[in-house]
Amino acid sequence: MDDLLHTRRRRRGKRRRRIYIGLAIVIAGCVTWYFWLRETPQERRQKRDAAVAAADAIVADTIKAARRPIEVKAAAKQKAAPDEALTAKWEEGKSVRLKGKLKKHQSVFKALENRGLEPARIQPVVSATSESFDFRKSRPGDTWTAEVNADGEITNFRYQTSPEDIWETVRNSNDSYSSTKIDVPVDKRETVLAGTVSTSLWEAFVEAGEAGKIIYDFTDIFAYSIDFNRETQPGDRFALIIEKVFLEGEFLRYGRIIAAEYISQGTPHRAFYYESNSGEIGYYDENGKNLKRQFLKSPLASVRVTSRYGMRYHPTLGQQKMHHGVDYGAPIGTPIRSVADGRVTFAGRKGANGNLVVIRHANGYKTMYAHLHEVADGIHPGKRVTQKTIIGEVGNTGRSTGPHLHFGMKRHGKYVNPNKVEFARAEPLKGTEKKNYIEEVVDPLSDRLDDARPTVADSGNPLDDPESTVSAPN
Ligand SMILES: [Zn+2]
Repeated sequence: MDDLLHTRRRRRGKRRRRIYIGLAIVIAGCVTWYFWLRETPQERRQKRDAAVAAADAIVADTIKAARRPIEVKAAAKQKAAPDEALTAKWEEGKSVRLKGKLKKHQSVFKALENRGLEPARIQPVVSATSESFDFRKSRPGDTWTAEVNADGEITNFRYQTSPEDIWETVRNSNDSYSSTKIDVPVDKRETVLAGTVSTSLWEAFVEAGEAGKIIYDFTDIFAYSIDFNRETQPGDRFALIIEKVFLEGEFLRYGRIIAAEYISQGTPHRAFYYESNSGEIGYYDENGKNLKRQFLKSPLASVRVTSRYGMRYHPTLGQQKMHHGVDYGAPIGTPIRSVADGRVTFAGRKGANGNLVVIRHANGYKTMYAHLHEVADGIHPGKRVTQKTIIGEVGNTGRSTGPHLHFGMKRHGKYVNPNKVEFARAEPLKGTEKKNYIEEVVDPLSDRLDDARPTVADSGNPLDDPESTVSAPN
């Protein structure tokens, strides 16, 4: 009996040992898999950053390609002849042509004085030019030319802020000066851009100067109907028809967006540029409804916002005691705009809110903007603001766990969910005007937007789209 028991125990012991060894192997395997094969959050972040960088590079290259012809021509010009006018000085008894580029903190007056001209000869020219050009808008890098006669009088003066924006001041027979803006003939052509939204591309467009501005203009069109900060989803699609402006056959810049489409989680939104018979210029939908409303959908101009801190959304407004509103995670310093015309009723520190701005609007509404890094200059109680006035910057003041904007809205003293309120629209098109608008604007442009829609199989990068002309300067 004892022997039998002993043998059984031994067998059981063996079986157990085998199970333990098996388990140990499985556990060791899992641990190895976990530490060796698993992507760490750091690696995932690196991968994502690499994807963003790659997208950035594509956009940057494309813009460079579009600019190249201008740069090449400019470089060729410079090499062809070193321009003496750039360094020339006026001397008594000699007529001369002067040319210059405004330096930092340099006024055009100072620039001309540096070239040997007398203040009394400069003053009437600058004063006449300021009748047509606002010198407060002058920037370093602006260029100017001056034809100066033997007496040191300027006979012709040109001030240029861009290839299209040139002001000319001429000397009249009675020695007075008159100034006008030169009408530079530019050529506008339309082009189509389309693509599928992915976070990295969105961010890439932001980083990319001009392209970033296109997306900004694009999101601005829908600022009353779509909150791009919260509603943008990978897989959303966009298409737009935009003007490209050419000067002497060379691509200069992008112009106005003529038509735009955004398909937000399957729901299409369309907008068409239109100047109404009453002189209202703006965007209307396919039924002639004005896209403009009393309130913007978001207090942040969309594209600067990242999801880094999460976009917390509280659908159960009014049920949480401490939280009435929408949180937007965004970097410190992101500008915040008033969502509607109104009057500031509070601007300053207020407990857990940190720096807070409160604005009263028409129809019994109030909006609140909390945790601001800084309240903008000039924003104080009693101040009138218009829709899109910058009222402060995103911050992390008060009871806040990371840089974000807390945005709240009240109507007649009660909190409301800003995303659920149907705000009043601006005047729609009616009658014959609406009929004409649909026939002449909506129908032809809709066909083009339909053609521009990317297929589902697209990579999501509009620059890969052979139909896209972002990169080609024509
Ligand atoms: Zn909040």
